[in-house]
Amino acid sequence: MLLEHVQGKLDALAAQSLTRFLRCADSGTAPRQRVRGPDGVSRELLMFCSNDYLGLAAHPQLRQALIEGAQRWGGGSGASPLVSGHSAAHEAVAHTLAQWYAPHIPQARALGFCTGYMANLAVVTALGDAEAELFCESLNHASLIDGARLARAKVSRYPHADVAQLDAQLAASSAKIKLIVTDAVFSMDGEIAPLPQLLALAEQHDAWLIVDDAHGFGVLGQHGRGALEHFGLCSPRIILVGTLGKAAGLAGAFVVAHDTILEYLLQSARNYIFSTASPPALEHALLSALALIEGEAGQQGRAQLQARQAQLKAGMAALLARHRRLGWYLIDSDTPVQPLVVGGNAEVMQLAARLEQAGIRVPGIRPPTVAPGTARLRITLCAAHTEADVQQLLDELAAAAQEAAA
Ligand code: PMP
Repeated sequence: MLLEHVQGKLDALAAQSLTRFLRCADSGTAPRQRVRGPDGVSRELLMFCSNDYLGLAAHPQLRQALIEGAQRWGGGSGASPLVSGHSAAHEAVAHTLAQWYAPHIPQARALGFCTGYMANLAVVTALGDAEAELFCESLNHASLIDGARLARAKVSRYPHADVAQLDAQLAASSAKIKLIVTDAVFSMDGEIAPLPQLLALAEQHDAWLIVDDAHGFGVLGQHGRGALEHFGLCSPRIILVGTLGKAAGLAGAFVVAHDTILEYLLQSARNYIFSTASPPALEHALLSALALIEGEAGQQGRAQLQARQAQLKAGMAALLARHRRLGWYLIDSDTPVQPLVVGGNAEVMQLAARLEQAGIRVPGIRPPTVAPGTARLRITLCAAHTEADVQQLLDELAAAAQEAAA
């Protein structure tokens, strides 16, 4: 019975062009990667889908740091953090991050997690207790949505970037604890949330601001400290989540918040307490990643990214102006996430397949990840892309647009 039941659901997904495919890579990440096709044959593709924004995953210093970390610490941490899994390497990463965010969050303290998904779940479930109300931005990442589903708090959603509506909802709430929950950079849109306005509302309504900066960390701000540095924000009301599997080139995540909030997370976040700590060797390498982000590699990477963003935006504007009738549009973003909205599910998958035939991989993103009718190519840029790489993408998109318009 279960087999028939789930097969029916799989068939329904296929009928709507919503089946997802697990692709297998045979080499490291961006910008060129050997990826197996449906026939099992591996081909080198120019990738516009990695979140390794600074190209650090392949950096020689990180490779070396992973080797050193493994030599010093061996494999896994062996236990959850409060039992015996918390090492000096974990401590050093948390300490560095607390120092990074001291100018943005008074009395900042940091706590490490194995993934961003887990960090978001921890923050939202631990703080979102029965006396709280969560005010969730409608385009939030799935991990924040799932945290809200698990939390005992009342959950309200506000429309994307609608500060006035959020203001009204906060004013109408009688909850003892009010928590605004938002991505800093929306993962499928690339837009930056209006954090200064959200923080002003938090101050005005005695609320707190939970910010998931998965895509801003390492990329935004002069030193790569993300959205808080980008906007120059400082408040004890900010609870920051950052991830380390994207611009930091490795894996993991962290929460930075006021010391008391952090202590409470440590005491009460069930998925922190009851889960094995990350490998100390990884933490050892993360220290090198943090040094790279704030050093010359990070500075150069951020400058390179901005140049590629400008090139892509200018090229796309010219292309879209020639093919207005197609109805495609680029979401206006100042981050490496540059989505090209195409509309239909089948249409976007055909476009992605056409690009792949030409040696370029850009994933098609469909509902429910994005709203129906806004299926898109989620183009992500990374510092390792050259001007010629971006031009190649623009040329192939121009050829595809030409065909679609014919
Ligand atoms: N938040 C956002 C906005 C994300 O895009 C992601 C990853 N896709 C996460 C959280 C989860 O981070 P991780 O991959 O480290 O679990």
